[in-house]
Amino acid sequence: MERLDLKNFHFKCLLCGNCCYNVLHKVETTEYAYDYQGNLTQNPELSVAIPYTELPTLKRNIHQQYNLDLRVHPQEAFFMKNFRIGFIYMYQMGVKKKKFCMFYDIHQRKCKIYRARPSACRSFPLIFNPDNISLPTIEWACTGIENEIRRQFPAMKDGQVFEIDNIELASSFLDEFLLFILNNEFMLSLAHLIVSNLEFLFLDKEITPEKINNYELKDFSQFFTWAQLHIKNQKIRILLNEVRRSYDQLQLETYNKRKSWKSHPNKIQIPIKIWKL
Ligand code: SF4
Ligand code: SF4
Repeated sequence: MERLDLKNFHFKCLLCGNCCYNVLHKVETTEYAYDYQGNLTQNPELSVAIPYTELPTLKRNIHQQYNLDLRVHPQEAFFMKNFRIGFIYMYQMGVKKKKFCMFYDIHQRKCKIYRARPSACRSFPLIFNPDNISLPTIEWACTGIENEIRRQFPAMKDGQVFEIDNIELASSFLDEFLLFILNNEFMLSLAHLIVSNLEFLFLDKEITPEKINNYELKDFSQFFTWAQLHIKNQKIRILLNEVRRSYDQLQLETYNKRKSWKSHPNKIQIPIKIWKL
């Protein structure tokens, strides 16, 4: 397999909007279904994912800076065994009828909320890697990436597969990489910790309409208010309180880190922390 040299990578975002338009367009070809009118039928795999920790500030920023409302749908949730109830920890942004991001201006070919856009857009072309959740991978559909591949491999054929080195990936896309880690902090740490420790909660990565019919789905705070009223088992109550404390703490930390976006809307400064590669 050809190896892509990321040390000498010259990525340049072309502001082509492919990530806001064509990448979302790919939804059509996946097995997932979505009616593009804001009604969830089944979650598309490809869209802009928004973690629970980012949602409140994102909503507020978009409203304050652009006077627009953010519409989201549940993407991933924790469900409670035996209680038929769950809470969402990952949302997905609304997609327009014509299958592109709700904030993409198709005439001007640009993002309508650029200064307030979600962190998943800021860390693009790095995307979640289902084969290795602790490290992102590159979205090959990005035109800037494709141009660079063509530069390095002029004889590239359609469908050719490339190997990448993760350490090179992190250093070549440092800003995007740090943002990706911040954006997925919950997924990378708490979610797995919760799943492995709390047998009564299970993580669901595919929220189907059937599941929504069978389970009551709440947002994070509503869920815990409900739990306080309805769960009598002391052990479960204590464990749920721990989950809530960890979530609240993470949300606060995430919010504090994101405050730097106000003064550096396009270049985000995040305190570097050590992570394992
Ligand atoms: S597809 Fe790539 S090059 Fe085009 S706007 Fe998105 S990040 Fe930039
Ligand atoms: S929010 Fe803006 S940058 Fe993100 S996908 Fe939508 S149009 Fe593109």
